[in-house]
Amino acid sequence: MAPVLSKDPVDIENILGLNPRMQNYAALRSTSSKKLDKKHWKRNADKDCSACPKLENNFDDIKHTTLSERGALREAMRCLKCADAPCQKSCPTNLDIKSFITSIANKNYYGAAKMIFSDNPLGLTCGMVCPTSDLCVGGCNLYATEEGPINIGGLQQFATEVFKAMNIPQIRNPSLPLPEDMPKAYSAKIALLGAGPASISCASFLARLGYSDITIFEKQEYVGGLSTSEIPQFRLPYDVVNFEIELMKDLGVKVICGKGLSVNGMNLSTLKEEGYKAVFIGIDKASFLASGMGLDLYLQI
Ligand code: SF4
Repeated sequence: MAPVLSKDPVDIENILGLNPRMQNYAALRSTSSKKLDKKHWKRNADKDCSACPKLENNFDDIKHTTLSERGALREAMRCLKCADAPCQKSCPTNLDIKSFITSIANKNYYGAAKMIFSDNPLGLTCGMVCPTSDLCVGGCNLYATEEGPINIGGLQQFATEVFKAMNIPQIRNPSLPLPEDMPKAYSAKIALLGAGPASISCASFLARLGYSDITIFEKQEYVGGLSTSEIPQFRLPYDVVNFEIELMKDLGVKVICGKGLSVNGMNLSTLKEEGYKAVFIGIDKASFLASGMGLDLYLQI
């Protein structure tokens, strides 16, 4: 028998799993404060939506090509990795942009995706549909050069698509105690209303912190919220939405479709009676009011 030259450690799957960097504080800033901030370094004009042309039957925003590996490497090499990176300050999710671009330049696509998903569980969706020219790309220090600003959205999409093809699940942080050894508050029942981007993001961050009984209620028979129902498939395929939901489910988050506010008499009081200790409202104001919940309650929340 041939001698065994090397042996994979038993926990090889955990080593390969997506074990995102965890923060126990919120790094998010409100959109309005980010909008004010970015005026200090944004290099292109703000879009004036009062004079926007009609978008009906306008398919100009189809992405004809995504970056190939060669294109992504060339783009990543061009990035200056600026000390005071204005691209990062313009990102509403505070992505560590120059770090993930550095990882791409080093051909470490897994590392780049890990950084992106750590800060934003919807990293691939945002890479595909985020209005980058008004955010990170608008602040890029290379804006005035001949080759133009770095295609940050394209690089983000490239790294996260490579990661998607790797079929790697997300794992619970191995440094956390076992669920049964966690403080009692971590097993509290948490309900999230609506299976759209807000709830997917919130549930992922809570589950990464160790909360173990999280349920998302979605009144439609499909998940993804506006990403599924409003964004055309040519801009954001359902496959991508589903991939990010599966990553969230890897952490034990449950999703129940066909159940939501005012469906079969469900409301905040019935959730409380069922033992839910916290509720996250991941639906917009119009849907909340349409479900029969009062404006007073919405304003209190
Ligand atoms: S501002 Fe542009 S060049 Fe500088 S780190 Fe960000 S993407 Fe790279």
